[in-house]
Amino acid sequence: MLIDGHGRKVDYLRVSVTERCNFRCQYCMPEKPFSWVPKENLLSYEELFKFVKVAIDEGIRKVRITGGEPLLREGLDNFIRMISEYKDDIDLALTTNAYLLPRAAQKLADAGLKRINVSLDSLKPEVAHKIAQKDVLKTVLEGIQAADDAGLKIKINCVPMQGINDSELCDLIEYCKERAYPIRFIEFMENEHAHSGAKGYNSIQIQNILKAKYNFEKLERTDSSPSQNYKMDDGYVFGIIEPHKDDFCATCNRIRLTASGVLIPCLYFEDSQSIKDAIQRNDIDEAAAILKDVLANKPEKNKWADEEGSEVSARAFYETGG
Ligand code: SAM
Ligand code: SF4
Repeated sequence: MLIDGHGRKVDYLRVSVTERCNFRCQYCMPEKPFSWVPKENLLSYEELFKFVKVAIDEGIRKVRITGGEPLLREGLDNFIRMISEYKDDIDLALTTNAYLLPRAAQKLADAGLKRINVSLDSLKPEVAHKIAQKDVLKTVLEGIQAADDAGLKIKINCVPMQGINDSELCDLIEYCKERAYPIRFIEFMENEHAHSGAKGYNSIQIQNILKAKYNFEKLERTDSSPSQNYKMDDGYVFGIIEPHKDDFCATCNRIRLTASGVLIPCLYFEDSQSIKDAIQRNDIDEAAAILKDVLANKPEKNKWADEEGSEVSARAFYETGG
């Protein structure tokens, strides 16, 4: 079992397989970064898998593949197969913008993937275009349908942004309700890479928007999911991810691995350690020791806060994978 320096059990690994993306979302990567990590500096899937095995053997029970846009990296289905065949009781999931899902969904399901989270911020073509800076909505919706047809369980993520998609939160709930997909609204996390004018909403503000149409009650937290869930009168449950709340980090159970082999203990801070050399030397003991050291030094709390002028992280979401 993996326990961090603040006594939290860590059993969730997020693996970013690429920082590249085919969208330029305003809250994440509005402009192409100055440079990408050169492909030769990335860990191969075999090397990433070697570390995933170390992590699973040490106590990781949930693995999420993310990015950038993970479907841009060729051979993702093989990577998924490696993990699902190593231990079939690992909760294996993928986060994607769905643009490449129309072609990929069935292959991913055949490789052993069970669950995907899809970012869907708008149901209006022009708004989706404005957020991703590309005409994406039709293909994204086809991708979600393809994933559903392939039997994947689907969750929707949405980042409410001031003056952009805030009038659509109820429509997104209706879209998800009709299809029995859970939706989670994510508070915009201020970071240096987002569009300079980007402004999100905190949980209270999101709830106030939804209260215009729905009655709902807060549910007790029963697990270490980052989502605070709310139940509507008709039983539909939606979630809000509330990183600006004071107690958000108290149940943090996760750690992140980038495509270039860097282990990141917290989404907010710059601290990290590389497992690349250890993995490439096949030094499994050293990789496990680095993992434990990173956990021993995992920060207690992020610095996003509810009041006006919340701190701004220097970390790029497209690198850490969210
Ligand atoms: N490209 C994939 C996608 O968009 O789903 C996976 C990577 S993306 C970085 C992972 C998640 O991070 C997405 O749900 C996205 O909405 C979220 N995200 C990115 N930047 C964010 C920000 N500044 N605040 C809150 N969530 C953010
Ligand atoms: Fe790409 Fe996902 Fe970031 Fe949007 S949120 S730019 S889809 S990595």
